[in-house]
Amino acid sequence: MGYISVAIDGPAGAGKSSVSKAAAKALGFTYIDTGAMYRSVALYAINNGIDIKNETAKLINRLDEIKISIKYTDEGQRIYLFDSDVSERIRKEDVSVGASDVAVIPEVRKKLVELQREMAKSANVIMDGRDICSYVLPNAQVKIFLTASSDSRAKRRYDELTEKGIECDLKKIKEDMEYRDKNDSMRAVAPLQKAEDAVLLDTTEMSFEESVEKVKELINNVL
Ligand code: C5P
Repeated sequence: MGYISVAIDGPAGAGKSSVSKAAAKALGFTYIDTGAMYRSVALYAINNGIDIKNETAKLINRLDEIKISIKYTDEGQRIYLFDSDVSERIRKEDVSVGASDVAVIPEVRKKLVELQREMAKSANVIMDGRDICSYVLPNAQVKIFLTASSDSRAKRRYDELTEKGIECDLKKIKEDMEYRDKNDSMRAVAPLQKAEDAVLLDTTEMSFEESVEKVKELINNVL
């Protein structure tokens, strides 16, 4: 039998990554965080003084140089940009907004989608992002659109960052989230939208554990 692919899409802060990570761990699947890849490209631009919106051509020219890798450790997935572990740095708000800006560039999407499809070929995966159900893995056996109200998404992101010791402001997070939601939904290439064949999972009124159980149940149905 071939490998199982689970595709999970949804807006920022819906809990996709924490739910996906927990479900993957419980079922022995590999979790692939595609947002982290867009974030790493944004961080590369920031580190190299490239203005993403006004120097798009410069970023495109350098795309082949950018080396992003994911390493799996006992503590979970770590993201590397070249030889640096950028797992924490890419969670900061400047990188979040930058990621949404690099994500509108078709050349960036092409490079990252190739990498993502390659990764799904050799393992059972849960992959989360914005365009996984509709574009990256259209043949995934399980497709989920995970969402929650914007207030609860902003609050969850705030709690997540605060827990990690990252200083942040709830109002600013909500504004950045709304900017990203709009940017992600309106862009011409692979916009954020629920795929017709994806199951809608609204977690506004659900606890984290309930969300994980529901995702596991949907996956268990196809095993
Ligand atoms: O999921 P996360 O918040 O880490 O994603 C950061 C940004 O990367 C998103 O706001 C979105 O613009 C972009 N992204 C995307 N397609 C994906 C994953 C993320 O466009 N598959």
